[in-house]
Amino acid sequence: METQKKNSQPANKTSTSEEGEEEQCRADTSCAKNEKQEPSSPKQGDFSDPVYKEIAMANGTINQMNRDELRAKCAELKLDTRGIKDVLKKRLKSYYKRQKLMHSSAANANSDVYFDYICVVDYEATCEENNPPGFLHEIIEFPMVLIDTHTLEIVDSFQEYVKPVVNPQLSEFCVKLTGITQKMVDEAQTFHQVLKRAVSWLQEKELGTKYTYTFLTDGSWDMGKFLHTQCKLSCIRYPPFARKWINIRKSYRNFYKVARAQTKLICMLENLGMQYDGRPHCGLDDSRNIARIAIHMLKDGCQLRVNECLHSGEPRSVPVSAPIEGAPAPQNPKKRN
Ligand code: AMP
Ligand code: MG
Repeated sequence: METQKKNSQPANKTSTSEEGEEEQCRADTSCAKNEKQEPSSPKQGDFSDPVYKEIAMANGTINQMNRDELRAKCAELKLDTRGIKDVLKKRLKSYYKRQKLMHSSAANANSDVYFDYICVVDYEATCEENNPPGFLHEIIEFPMVLIDTHTLEIVDSFQEYVKPVVNPQLSEFCVKLTGITQKMVDEAQTFHQVLKRAVSWLQEKELGTKYTYTFLTDGSWDMGKFLHTQCKLSCIRYPPFARKWINIRKSYRNFYKVARAQTKLICMLENLGMQYDGRPHCGLDDSRNIARIAIHMLKDGCQLRVNECLHSGEPRSVPVSAPIEGAPAPQNPKKRN
């Protein structure tokens, strides 16, 4: 029962066209020189260090390998052996680069990631079976899962339920789909209050101040539909820190060169040799599983970059040529005028 939410996205939302745009390979040392558009990373390496020559040589060897040789090498190193030739190459290059940098004083092993942290968000919202046209979704679960892009680990998470106000009664369908009960939302606070605590949580982690970060979602709806609608309902200005994000479906599709139909959450996991862990449509479990995919992609050498933004209340593609900048520091929600 993969989501109607995602399936029902109008074509122009999921295809906010990034066709042909590449998620870049950070394993290639030649890329490193082209990364002037990156936010100034305090951990950038000194490329004169001999380790970069070693990496370039390893990349040269990998470039000479055919698919069977690449797969055999991946197997030998206990890496995932799935994917097209290009993916296998990037995976191996990324692996060698991390290994070599880990044993070198030249740089942090993941010095060339775009953001220090990636914050995965997957809202759950009120719904009905076959959501009638114009159905007003209210956010009922606000989860976040924080990925440290340097250690490639989930380092923290946040979860709060939210009391819906316009339609306080959950449909039977919604309870069954999300596992969120009437009691859970009755005892929860309103979106405005929960958003404030979400902001405090982000501020405690010094995101947007000491560290660069961005949000990541599974599809365009979390920010483009749920958050946008909820802010209107709660008479709050749309938070500037959530204006741009990484839509992992697009990144996945571009990086692994798969069809759109292969970018549903369970499908993305399975194609990477993983199983869904937890309860589907629990926002926190969904977020954790999305984070697992993101980590796998970073390990494979995919530079996850911001690829969507909110423009006049609609999700739009961010062109690959746009300067890369982290989200601004989160601020307390402001009332709409
Ligand atoms: P997801 O992130 O896939 O769990 O979905 C987020 C939200 O989209 C859910 O909380 C529902 O509000 C809505 N949704 C997902 N799947 C369905 C479905 N099959 N039918 C109706 N609404 C859905
Ligand atoms: Mg979900």
